[in-house]
Amino acid sequence: MGIGGIVLVLALSWLTGTDLTSLIGVGGGPVAPGSSGGAVQSTPQEERMVDFVDAVAADTQATWERALGGRYQRTTVVLFRDAVDSACGFAQAATGPFYCPADRRVYLDLGFFDDLARKLDAPGDFAQAYVIAHEFGHHVQNILGLTERAQRDRSTGANSASVALELQADCFAGVWGHDAMQTGRAAAGKVELEAGDVEEGLQAASSIGDDRLQRMSNGRVSPESFTHGSSAQRVEWFRRGMQAGDPAACDTIARLTQ
Ligand SMILES: [Zn+2]
Repeated sequence: MGIGGIVLVLALSWLTGTDLTSLIGVGGGPVAPGSSGGAVQSTPQEERMVDFVDAVAADTQATWERALGGRYQRTTVVLFRDAVDSACGFAQAATGPFYCPADRRVYLDLGFFDDLARKLDAPGDFAQAYVIAHEFGHHVQNILGLTERAQRDRSTGANSASVALELQADCFAGVWGHDAMQTGRAAAGKVELEAGDVEEGLQAASSIGDDRLQRMSNGRVSPESFTHGSSAQRVEWFRRGMQAGDPAACDTIARLTQ
């Protein structure tokens, strides 16, 4: 049983902030986060996905409550199909998952997980969990004031503060992965990784590197337009976080903007 199986069993007993009312119904327009979205028509597959996101979100937030103590502020995940209106503007599903610093929420479109498996060749439940944990990493950066600090840097490309911020979010996802790797967690009602899950996460990190995505879309690599870091960098920082289990190991900002 992968972590998907485990979390399905556990999700029923977990109450987190996953905002189900924002899941957009088939054919409906975007629903503003926090409003009541009316009847939600979701497929059984989507409902499994909702439970999965809910469980990973709860687990990731538990990691950050442990790591940051009273400084951590819990947030919610807004799930959507097609498009969503956030405090950061109107977003199409094609944008991919994102974190909006202005309303402090994580936005996930359910279709992205299909893309991850099919188009980007990064299948598996831990690959999906890594993406969710990465977005929570951006929330942690926002709480710590790092987002604001990086936004003052106007440079672009491979050595920019925004790339450093993305790599740090990968490392923060690894910090959660470190917790999830510990044995005996499933018995305690938490997400526990099993053999193969770590490789799935590293494969996902590698699959969504800027160099790979650029090569896939236009056949060439332009580091001056990197936004998230190369595949090798994303794997490196995710692995660092996973090995250390400590956000102090994730100081990409100092390293890349000095
Ligand atoms: Zn990111």
